[in-house]
Amino acid sequence: MPQSLDMVIVGAGFSGLYMLHRARGLGLSACVVEAADGVGGTWYWNRYPGARVDVESHEYSYSFSPELEAEWKWSERYAAQPELLRYLNHVADRFDLRRDIRFETRVTSAVFDEAANRWTVTTHRGDRISARYCVMATGCLSAPKKIDIPGADSFKGEVYNTTNWPEAGVDFTGKRVGIIGTGSSAVQTITEIAPHVGSLHIFQRTPSFSVPAHNGPADPEAVRNWRENREANRQAGRENPIGIVAAVFSDKLAVETPAEERNRIYEERWAKGGFAIGGAFADTMMTKEANDTLAGFVADKVRAVVKDTAIAEKLIPRTYPIGTKRFCVDTGYFQVFNQPNVTLVDIANASVTVTPKGVKSGDTEYEFDCLIFALGFDAMTGALSKIDIRGRDGMALKDKWGSGPRTYLGLMVSGFPNLFLVTGPGSPSVLSNMVVSIEQHIDWISDCIAALGQRQMDAIEATPEAEQGWVAHVNEVANMTLYPQANSWYVGANVPGKPRVFMPYPGGVGIYRQLCDAAAAKGYEGFALTSSAQR
Ligand code: FAD
Ligand code: NAP
Repeated sequence: MPQSLDMVIVGAGFSGLYMLHRARGLGLSACVVEAADGVGGTWYWNRYPGARVDVESHEYSYSFSPELEAEWKWSERYAAQPELLRYLNHVADRFDLRRDIRFETRVTSAVFDEAANRWTVTTHRGDRISARYCVMATGCLSAPKKIDIPGADSFKGEVYNTTNWPEAGVDFTGKRVGIIGTGSSAVQTITEIAPHVGSLHIFQRTPSFSVPAHNGPADPEAVRNWRENREANRQAGRENPIGIVAAVFSDKLAVETPAEERNRIYEERWAKGGFAIGGAFADTMMTKEANDTLAGFVADKVRAVVKDTAIAEKLIPRTYPIGTKRFCVDTGYFQVFNQPNVTLVDIANASVTVTPKGVKSGDTEYEFDCLIFALGFDAMTGALSKIDIRGRDGMALKDKWGSGPRTYLGLMVSGFPNLFLVTGPGSPSVLSNMVVSIEQHIDWISDCIAALGQRQMDAIEATPEAEQGWVAHVNEVANMTLYPQANSWYVGANVPGKPRVFMPYPGGVGIYRQLCDAAAAKGYEGFALTSSAQR
């Protein structure tokens, strides 16, 4: 007999932990199933050197408990992975969450039984859990991309992957190191290890736009300001287009602003650091002309740092508009290229093969002691597609999403009653400060389940019409922006064979929240609510 619960939650990162806390608050019996042997999700797995948050720590943290917020002190403006993992462990202990988490257990299938109106979740250990509600808190960036470089298994030296870094850490002192990839994970790793390695070869297929974090110890004045205005700040985050208070969005247009004034504004925001620069003008993501002004400004910053002009030009992205891939937020990345022991290998138009001794690109073989892969993720749908999820009439989610993910509001899928997605495709998720988006989804799901109870209903499902309308709306909004122009993981372009669909909702966190709240206020418009008696 399977264990019988009200709710089963898959994943124990920011999403799963908060969902469990809220489920208990609703009086539901619930458990979390987690593949890792600890909580933390992203911050459990990605322990590579230099891993740190790209949003200021006090913003990238839960807001649901003022007490939790008051007692936790961040040591740096942008917390590093060990501190984020400590924070999530503290949350798990403070709210006594561990007793309902099954660690080292991977969910392999989730099957809906229409007659019983219940989900049966099966794990790799053979456990079966039956629950009315199933919440997929499996993460948008938790399924590493398969290493798609020929010969990858042949290297005889030490091999590391940023997505699953050894807990004990790695000593690269004096070693000959190669790293493939130049996305956020690589940028952080490179910056951290470059001072210690013997030599570092960086294999770059596409350069990244990177902006400075200006990280440092937490500023007591900023912390005091944040705390004194906690409620207002949190509300501003929830209403901000990307969920980041520090990224104040202007309604000025770059194209209507004289060049001198525009540059002054960019300089001001560059000095603030992080995503602030993304909000400088309202048209940055709307027209190429506006976008080029920011891309040009950032390119000049690279030129000002990197002494070798040929290398500087190779580090400047030219094949996609700025912001159409998430900015890297760095702490001295471009400075690394002035070090004599660092070599940039441009593989944009060259073949790359891993060999027993290192990496061969074109006719040159580079020999290494250690090789690091920083190749990214099968984003947004990867973790879900690894689970055999079957809804009404045995329909497989994988099949339903064969031409790209389809959801209503990124929260539910037609044909899959009582299955909730946290930060699913069709919601702002990865375009935002994700903790803000996670809390919004968990609160919405919790309120929805409470509302079902009040109405003596026990099933909710997105209608096919609402889902179709939402998918069309997401596409329409995306096509009004420059986002689809990049071969990014937002469109699945990084994974061979993945359908090219813009997955997150680019309409903004604040607007999206209003749409979700409006649907709920109108009696869950776009959803079918039923009771067992009706069925
Ligand atoms: P995750 O933290 O990914 O947790 C999902 C959990 O589900 C994992 O522990 C996984 O093991 C588990 N799981 C998945 N499938 C199964 C299964 N079948 N069975 C059992 N368990 C399963 N976002 C930001 O806003 N700012 C940042 O600075 C930022 N930095 C990031 C840095 C890195 C290196 C990465 C990879 C992502 C970053 N993100 C950032 C995005 C980050 O993923 C989110 O901010 C947030 O941590 C997601 O929380 P989550 O709980 O939804 O998912
Ligand atoms: P990513 O942005 O997808 O970068 C992967 C890198 O690997 C890219 O440079 C890519 O090149 C390269 N690559 C992939 N396959 C390759 C191949 N076969 N041959 C050569 N190069 C290859 O992945 P990521 O760096 O892990 O970041 C993913 C996301 O996680 C980020 O966008 C961000 O949202 C989040 N993140 C945030 C932080 C942070 O600052 N807090 C840190 C890490 C991650 P192409 O571009 O040419 O494909």
